[in-house]
Amino acid sequence: MTKYVYLFKEGQASMKNLLGGKGANLAEMTNLGLPVPQGFTVTTEACIQYYKDGKKIAPEVVEQIFAALEKTEAEFGKKFGDSKNPFLVSVRSGARASMPGMMDTILNLGLTDEAVEGLAKLTDNPRFAYDSYRRFIQMFADVVMEIDKANFEHLLEAMKEAKGVHLDTDLDANDLKKLVGQFKVKYQELKGEPFPQDPKVQLIEAVQAVFRSWDNPRANTYRMLNHIPYEWGTAVNVQGMVFGNMGQDSGTGVAFSRNPANGDNVLYGEYLFNAQGEDVVAGIRTPKPIAELKAENEALYDEFDRIAKKLEAHYRDMQDMEFTIEKGKLYMLQTRNGKRTAQAAVKIAIDLVNEGVLTKEEALLKVEPSQLDALLHPTFDPKALKAAKPITQGLAASPGAAYGRVVFTAERAAELVKKDKLPVVLVRQETSPEDIEGMVVSAGILTARGGMTSHAAVVARGMGTCCVAGAGEVKVNEAGKFFTINGKRYNEGDYISIDGSTGYVYGEKIATTEAVVSGDFATLMSWADEIRVLKVRTNADTPRDAHQARVFGAEGIGLCRTEHMFFEASRIKAMREMIVAKNLKEREVALAKLLPMQREDFIKLYKEMEGYAVTVRYLDPPLHEFVPHTDAEIKELAKDMGLEFEELKRTIEDLHETNPMLGHRGVRLSITYPEIAVMQTKAVIEAAIHVTKEGLHVEPEIMIPLIGELKEFKFVKDIVVKTADELIKKSGLNIKYLVGTMIEIPRAALLADEIAKEAEFFSFGTNDLTQMTFGFSRDDAGKFLPDYYKTKIFESDPFAHIDQRGVGKLMKMAVNLGNEVRPNIKTGICGEHGGDPQSVEFCHNTGLTYVSCSPFRVPLARLAAAQAQIRNPRK
Ligand code: ADP
Ligand code: MG
Ligand code: MG
Repeated sequence: MTKYVYLFKEGQASMKNLLGGKGANLAEMTNLGLPVPQGFTVTTEACIQYYKDGKKIAPEVVEQIFAALEKTEAEFGKKFGDSKNPFLVSVRSGARASMPGMMDTILNLGLTDEAVEGLAKLTDNPRFAYDSYRRFIQMFADVVMEIDKANFEHLLEAMKEAKGVHLDTDLDANDLKKLVGQFKVKYQELKGEPFPQDPKVQLIEAVQAVFRSWDNPRANTYRMLNHIPYEWGTAVNVQGMVFGNMGQDSGTGVAFSRNPANGDNVLYGEYLFNAQGEDVVAGIRTPKPIAELKAENEALYDEFDRIAKKLEAHYRDMQDMEFTIEKGKLYMLQTRNGKRTAQAAVKIAIDLVNEGVLTKEEALLKVEPSQLDALLHPTFDPKALKAAKPITQGLAASPGAAYGRVVFTAERAAELVKKDKLPVVLVRQETSPEDIEGMVVSAGILTARGGMTSHAAVVARGMGTCCVAGAGEVKVNEAGKFFTINGKRYNEGDYISIDGSTGYVYGEKIATTEAVVSGDFATLMSWADEIRVLKVRTNADTPRDAHQARVFGAEGIGLCRTEHMFFEASRIKAMREMIVAKNLKEREVALAKLLPMQREDFIKLYKEMEGYAVTVRYLDPPLHEFVPHTDAEIKELAKDMGLEFEELKRTIEDLHETNPMLGHRGVRLSITYPEIAVMQTKAVIEAAIHVTKEGLHVEPEIMIPLIGELKEFKFVKDIVVKTADELIKKSGLNIKYLVGTMIEIPRAALLADEIAKEAEFFSFGTNDLTQMTFGFSRDDAGKFLPDYYKTKIFESDPFAHIDQRGVGKLMKMAVNLGNEVRPNIKTGICGEHGGDPQSVEFCHNTGLTYVSCSPFRVPLARLAAAQAQIRNPRK
C-alpha cells in the first residue's frame, strides 16, 4: 500500500518532492531537535491521486490521515472535539517550491460548540477560546467553502463599532461569543447547512480544499510566472496548534536570518504580541521590528537568534522562519531558504563564500538569473532626487526607483499600460493575490498598510518591482480614485515617484538614470565569467544599445537588425523610396541614399564593440511595416519622389501580402533585388576598412536571414563575396569576414549539412523557428495561447522558453549536421530565447558557441551560462 501520510518524525529535508517544502523542513527541524509542534504531512502523491480520481480523496488517504491523527493526539495528550481538552490543528498547504500567499492556511481546526467550551475552561481564558473559534469559522468558510470573508468582517466591524472600540483585542469574551453566534448564522444562511460540528469532517474538507487550491486561478498565475509545473501537486501539513493569541505573553512572528532587502547579516523580521499568524502576514495590524523583542524579552530573543543561526548553518543559506510564542514558550512553525531581492541575493552569496560556508560555484547557483534584472533597473538621478522633497515615507520593501501615473486598481494598471506603454504606480490600501496581473505591469507599488512580509512586499521582491509598503499616511480612496497625504490630494493619472530602497514617496516625476555593474554584483559576474564556456553577445541595432551591452559585459553583437536602423523619421523616407522603387535605376538611387547612413552606423557599432564580433543581418523587413498607409502620407511620399499619388498608391497596394510572415522577406528580397545585398555589403566592408585604418581590428559576420535551401544562400553569398573582396583588395588591407546564415526555417535545420558547405556560421533565429515549427503565427498566438494554458496543453509560452523537445530537436540536429561538414562551426542563438535562463541552459547543453540577447539580459545570460556549466560541465 502506498504511504500517503508521514509524521514529521518520519520525514526529512531531502523528501521535498513528496512532502513539499514546508513539510520536509518541519520534519528536518523536528530531527534537529527544535521545538516544533508535532503533526503530519499528506503527500503530494495524495494530491496527484486526488486529481486522478476526479477530485475525490481516496479512502486509504483518509484512513492514513486518521491513523496519524490518533498518534499526534496521543503525543499532545488531547483529543479532537473533546469537551475537556480539545485538540486543535492547523491545515497548511506546502508545495515543492514555496508559493507565498497563493494557498491558504486554516488555523484552529477542530473547534466546535462543545470544544470551545472545553478550551475556555481548560485555559481559563474564554476570550481566547472564542477569539480562536470566530477566526476558525471565518477561515473555514472562506478557504474551504468559498464564502467571501467580507461577510464576516462586516459583522466584526459592526461589533467594534457598537462597542466603540478600534482594535480586535479590545473586544471581550462575551462580545466574541456573540460574534461566533452571528458567524454561524451567517454561515448557515449562505451555505444552506450548519457549520460542521464533527472535527474529522472539518479536517477532511480542509485537506481537500488545499488540494483544490492547487488549481485555483491565483495558483495557476503564480505557477506560470515562476515556471512551476502543474503536475507537482501540493502536500498538506496538519499540525497541532500552538497559540500566539493567549495574551500578552504570547505572540507570533516572521523573521529572516539576514536582511532580505539588502543582505546585511542581522536578524530581520517582525512580530506581534497576542496575535495569530495571519495577522502579521495579512498586513492588518502593523507589527514591530524583531529588534524590539530583545528589549521586551531578551531570553526569548536570544533563543530565537540561536535557532536562526543553527538553521542557517544547517541549510547553508539565509532562512525565512515563522514562529509562535505560547505563554512565553517559543515554537518554530516554518523555515525555508528565504526569498530576497537581487541586491541581497548577490551580497549574501558573496558573504557566504567569504565566511567559508559556500564555494564560488555553490554561491553562483544561489542567485536566480532572472532576478538580476532588478539590479539593472534605473535609480533616481541624484541631482533630481536632491531637488525633490518626499511627501511621506513607508517601508523600503523592494528596491529600485520608479515613477509613474497613479492608479488604484490592478485592472486600471493593466489597461493604461497596454494603451500607451507609459509607466504606472499601483497605489493600494494593501494588495492581495487578485492584484497580481496589475502588479506585473506596474513600475512600482505603494501600499498604505502592511509590513515587510505583507503580500505586496513579498510579491514585489519576487518580481523585482520596486515597492514601498505600509505608508500609513497615505489615505486611499479607491472609489473616488484619489489618495491624500496630510490632506493633500493626488488623483488617478498624477505622476508620483517611489524609492523602494529608502521608502520615500515623492509627489512628482523624478528622472531616473541607468544602472552600472559594480561592487558585489561585478564580483559575482567575474566569477560567472571565470566559469562559463558559453559566450554571451547582444542583439543591438544602435550604438546606444551596443554601448549599454558592453557595460553589461556583452562579447560582441550576435544580431544587428539592419532594418531597425531605418525606423527613424529622418531615414524612413529613403527606405520607403527603396521599397516602392519600380525599377533598378530608381532602387539604386534610393540605395545610394541608404549606403552612407548604414556605413556610419556600422562604424559606430564596430567602435562600441572594441574589436568584438559584430554580426550584421541583411535586411529582413516585413515590407508593409515600412510603407505609408494613409492617403496623406502617401501623398507626401509621392511629392518627394516626383510620383503621381494614384500610381504610388497602386504600388503600395501591390505590396500587400496575405501572409507577410511567410512572404517576400529575408533572403527572398536579395534574390529579387540583388542590389540590396550589394549596398549592404559595401556598407559593412567600407566601415570595416574605415575603422581598420584607425587601428581597430574587426571581423564582420554577415548573416543572411530566412534560408531554407543551399542555393538561395549561395546566390547571395556569391554577391557578398564578389563585392567584399573587390573592396578589400582595393584597400590593400587584410580584412577577414564571415558569411553565415540564420537557421529559422525548419528545412534549413533538416538540411544543415548541405548549408554548412557554404555557410560559415549558424545563428538560430528561434522566434521564426518556433513560429514555423509549431505553425503558430507570432503575431496571432496571443489570441489562442491563453486557452492552451487554461487547458494545460501548454504550461509556458514557447516564444518565451524554448520548446526543447521540438524546436530544440531541430537545433540539435542542425548543430550536429553542421559540425559533420564544418567541424567546430560557430553556432549561436539570436531569438528572444537568448535572454531566458532555461533556454540559455539548453543552448549550453546543446553545444552552441554563444547566445545573443538584448542588452539588459546580458548579465542574466552570463550567470545562467555559468550555472549551466556548473550543473553540466562542457569542455
Ligand atoms: P503561508 O505558507 O501562507 O506562510 P503557513 O502555513 O505558513 O502559510 O501559515 C501561516 C501562519 O499561520 C504561520 O506563519 C503561523 O503563524 C500560523 N500557523 C500555522 N500553523 C500553526 C500552528 N500549528 N500553530 C500556530 N500557528 C500556526
Ligand atoms: Mg508560512
Ligand atoms: Mg527571423
